Amino acid sequence: MQLQVSLCMIEPKRDRHSPGGRLRWRYTTLWTHEQLTYLGHSAFLITTLAGDILIDPFLSGNPSASIGPDDVHPNYILMTHGHSDHLGDTIGITRRTRATVIGPAELVTYLAGKGVSNVHPMHIGGNHVFPFGELFLTQALHGSSVTENGHFINTGNPWGSVVKTGERTIYRAGDTGVFFDTELIGRLHPLDIALLPIGGNFTMGIDDAVEAVKMLAPHAAIPIHYGTFPVIAVDPQLLRNKVESSTSARCAVLEPGQTR
Ligand SMILES: [Zn+2]
Repeated sequence: MQLQVSLCMIEPKRDRHSPGGRLRWRYTTLWTHEQLTYLGHSAFLITTLAGDILIDPFLSGNPSASIGPDDVHPNYILMTHGHSDHLGDTIGITRRTRATVIGPAELVTYLAGKGVSNVHPMHIGGNHVFPFGELFLTQALHGSSVTENGHFINTGNPWGSVVKTGERTIYRAGDTGVFFDTELIGRLHPLDIALLPIGGNFTMGIDDAVEAVKMLAPHAAIPIHYGTFPVIAVDPQLLRNKVESSTSARCAVLEPGQTR
């Protein structure tokens, strides 16, 4: 039997999805078994009572990575798409750990062809209950491919996702521009945390990320996918100022290696 303990704070929060934006009481988890650790760029580690989930493990060659691929021991690897700054060290880590790779069907089929033995293909609109919790897949406006020996291999559609694990519901937008259906994601899944790209060029930038926060109405927003390379260098404090002055959400700027 597993005993799960959490500390909570109760506070009022304006519910923008209900008529009149009525005030509701919201439980905010201060401490829980589920821990979210930023590893740099778009990589995260979620530790749960049912195992560790590694997300988009671009660690080798990532100038912002807080740890290397040999430092992680995941039970699951959650992939959003095939680009090298997300696929990263997935194949090497699975050889060592035999972690189950959860990803777009086309991408995990590609990975299975590379010898990744444990895969769980899914697709946009789908959901599945895993031992760590429930995973819902959302659209992302982006591409997905692998370049191999000069050849361009299409690896299907990219994802965003919502994971409900223990006390937390976390939305990870993946690489995407902003889109109106973002509001539906927040309505279907009241969010504790939204992980949003802000670096621009390949994804939404800061102003569009603020619009996404308004639609998602999470308790907290965390910026990702910025600063790793000069072309996506932005100041995350600008996001923090704009989010906290124009929405009821907080904005947490995490350094690689920091846990929330
Ligand atoms: Zn990317």
